[in-house]
Amino acid sequence: MRWSHYPVTTVKEVPSEAEVVSHQLMLRAGLIRRLAAGIYTWTPLGLRTLRKVETIVREEMDRAGALEVLMPAVQPAELWQESGRWEKYGPELLRLSDRHERPFVIGPTHEEVITDFARRELKSYRQLPVNFYQIQTKFRDEIRPRFGVMRGREFIMKDAYSFHADAASLERGYAAMREAYVRMFTRMGLEFRVVRADTGAIGGSASEEFQVLADSGEDAIAVSDGADQYAANVELAPALPPAAPRPAPAQALARVATPGRRTIAEVATFLQLPPARLVKLLLVEGSDGGVVAIALRGDHELNAVKAQKLPGVASPLRMAGPDSIRAATGVAPGFLGPVGLRCALYADHAALALADFACGGNEEDLHLTGVNWGRDLPAPQGVDVRNVVPGDPSPTGEGRLSIRRGIEVGHIFQLGTKYSEAMQATVLDESGKPVPMTMGCYGIGITRIVAAAIEQNHDAAGIVWPAPLAPFQVVLVPLNAAKSARVRDKAEELYAALTAAGVEVLFDDRDARPGVKFADAELLGIPHRLVVAERGLDAGRLEYRHRRAAANEDWPLDGALETLLARVRAG
Ligand code: ATP
Ligand code: MG
Repeated sequence: MRWSHYPVTTVKEVPSEAEVVSHQLMLRAGLIRRLAAGIYTWTPLGLRTLRKVETIVREEMDRAGALEVLMPAVQPAELWQESGRWEKYGPELLRLSDRHERPFVIGPTHEEVITDFARRELKSYRQLPVNFYQIQTKFRDEIRPRFGVMRGREFIMKDAYSFHADAASLERGYAAMREAYVRMFTRMGLEFRVVRADTGAIGGSASEEFQVLADSGEDAIAVSDGADQYAANVELAPALPPAAPRPAPAQALARVATPGRRTIAEVATFLQLPPARLVKLLLVEGSDGGVVAIALRGDHELNAVKAQKLPGVASPLRMAGPDSIRAATGVAPGFLGPVGLRCALYADHAALALADFACGGNEEDLHLTGVNWGRDLPAPQGVDVRNVVPGDPSPTGEGRLSIRRGIEVGHIFQLGTKYSEAMQATVLDESGKPVPMTMGCYGIGITRIVAAAIEQNHDAAGIVWPAPLAPFQVVLVPLNAAKSARVRDKAEELYAALTAAGVEVLFDDRDARPGVKFADAELLGIPHRLVVAERGLDAGRLEYRHRRAAANEDWPLDGALETLLARVRAG
């Protein structure tokens, strides 16, 4: 493509509305333009990368034997009433009425529509297993659309749904999708991890996320250095109970005045103890309207996903308000402790393993030291309710955990019969009896992948595309061509030859200063740059640079085309 024919302009300044680097660079390089909050237009340049992502996803889905379909974005509300999600889905679901006042939704996902399709088309177990997928626009009225297309309201997803006669077949289908996903993200040149995930509101049993590793990622992932490459969302990663038994009490219980010291940091400094020797108490709402106390080691964080699964704790987790805390303990937050507590109490395994610990005294400005479970208060039930921290042993027993950040680009689920039962999607089994089909579902955020790829691959000058996702493979930069027929002719000749060889070339034929052209080429992140300049031609040379390289290479004019083609093919 000739740059002079490409009307979208690059921007030098960092756009103030963009918080993360991928959003900034996508706006600056002219890949997307905002229409409304969380709603974007893809420019010709941006669309080239989006299509590359789509193509890789489509090829790997096809290779895995999935069948492409295209379902409507607008879906009748009856289907959502049938599945029970019309009530459950909440304000992320965009609802609307047609001219006859019939309710519809704009699809945030397509379980209902595909299950309806499957129950009409599939009659016998002999037609199973089958996997239908589509690449299509979704709408979710996200509470905080942000980071550009990373968390948009309108976005493109690849969603696939598999149908099986039994659980064993689902497991095989799930494994095939997992393998296809690994191939896709590997082909895209992204560094990623497959992590065990919470099944959340969708329900079902096994579930894994595909996370692109990037420091700005919204999700914290626990990654083991063990040979089994264990990785799990921190929401889910189990923290093993300490291996060593609790030491015997060595100190006497003491009351210590701690005027105005409320936070763990303040109390630890004041008592001259490490936070790991303190026990903090958090009060959450109970499922019966009361409160439930959870004791944690001072340096640990409560894990909401684990906590809301404890018997008696309200789900989703809600922290108790100041009034119910005072009613339950007689004291304000900051001085809470487990001794003499009247409400239900759980203790995290690590807190329960402490002897001679310090904690709040349930009186204003009072803490206790030398506290011991079993001696000063009954030992409560030990549970796993904390987030894992770096250095924790891997739950598989192999290696130690570190915490990385990731961007969720894909999610695969074994759904089971949740939708097929609710919507009576049955087939006849071998004995002629109708049985609900067993389902799996498999999503990929196509638009999010583009942002995640940039988040992982950029430098101070701009985007550094992994070759398989770059909008163009080569940027061809003639310098001062207006003044030099030789430069013009050589550049045109190279452009024609590269194009004829099937290379995707962006030809910077603009009448712009060299500095502007170089800055734009770096911002756009195209892997291979070839410069044609008068001085080089005099010496019979061309200047080449790979986007990831620190320095230029000087190539002889003779054979330069062949060298470039070989580099492009190498990726
Ligand atoms: P998240 O936790 O990020 O909200 P999700 O669990 O709601 O994601 P799924 O319902 O599993 O997402 O959707 C499948 C994929 O679609 C996700 O893995 C993600 O890549 C993508 N996706 C989900 N929501 C958005 C969004 N608002 N904008 C862009 N992509 C999204
Ligand atoms: Mg979501």
